[in-house]
Amino acid sequence: PRLANQIAAGEVVERPASVIKELLENSLDAGASRVEVEIEAGGVKLMRVRDNGSGLGKDDLPLALSRHATSKIYELDDLEAVGTLGFRGEALASISSVSRLTLTSNAGDAGDAWQASAEGRDMVAELKPAAHPRGTTVEVRDLFFNTPARRKFLRTEKTEMNRIDDVIKRLAMSRFDVNFVLRHNGKAIHNLPAASNQHEKERRLAQICGPAFMENAVHLDIERSGLRLWGWVALPSFSRSQADMQHFYVNGRAIRDKLVTHAVRQAYQDVLYHGRHPAYVLYLELDPATVDVNVHPTKHEVRFRDNRMVHDFLFRSLHRALAEVRP
Ligand code: ADP
Ligand code: MG
Repeated sequence: PRLANQIAAGEVVERPASVIKELLENSLDAGASRVEVEIEAGGVKLMRVRDNGSGLGKDDLPLALSRHATSKIYELDDLEAVGTLGFRGEALASISSVSRLTLTSNAGDAGDAWQASAEGRDMVAELKPAAHPRGTTVEVRDLFFNTPARRKFLRTEKTEMNRIDDVIKRLAMSRFDVNFVLRHNGKAIHNLPAASNQHEKERRLAQICGPAFMENAVHLDIERSGLRLWGWVALPSFSRSQADMQHFYVNGRAIRDKLVTHAVRQAYQDVLYHGRHPAYVLYLELDPATVDVNVHPTKHEVRFRDNRMVHDFLFRSLHRALAEVRP
């Protein structure tokens, strides 16, 4: 499986932030309500993700590190086709093939915890007893220690850390019900407590997007014929230094989409006569059968069944919300 490991690793593990994304998604999949992320040296030295999710039993630990879907790649016998597959079920195997990884987990039932570790492509996993409350800790050390070429492509510690931070923020804006904690080199970066009501959500967004965003933002929540748009749009009084503050979620998944960008900007210009890219955090909820957000696991694309209808709904909802507060 050596070849497959390397190919898949190239897909998933591009940089520390891609590791964090996979680990956090696993924690959320496991139903965690609290996720703690600890980073050293921009992630190259250490990334540790600890959750209070369902955990893994002793027998499942080595399995989680092994690549069960490898045969798929060999059967295809076509490396070009690989890019379209998405390497689901292979993130941990891919990460461990380019790092020193330990997986410690407690599934809660028997109250005992176990640890499996893997190092480099050979994935020598060994099981030993450990101490850990219900949940899972994944520790990734020395990323790319065995692939110096890829290591060379990494940017500065600060840049890699910013990308990790972006991944966490993006997830934290979609999962208000989860407590996210981030530390870098022993220093607290974020502690975002779970938020349930609007006030708590706004407090979280103020932490993530900055208090100025929240102070200048209009809240909206509009529902019509099975579509719901809610969230916050900043008025032109919000002058931001960051270029990128456009967050759009479709059924909880962060996406980037021309249709969405266009509808928002058009409504904004129409009401406020303002040409600048507006800043927003918006959530569109609609029947999952009418949208495909899985076009590619790493690109954030989306396909609506009825583009026109979605565009109209976004435009009209924003138009209405902005017209109400027009200065
Ligand atoms: P995938 O998530 O696509 O199944 P991964 O390689 O990311 O593939 O994870 C492999 C398996 O390991 C998961 O299916 C899950 O059973 C288990 N796993 C990984 N991380 C966790 C976690 N934090 N909590 C519980 N189980 C986990
Ligand atoms: Mg996964």
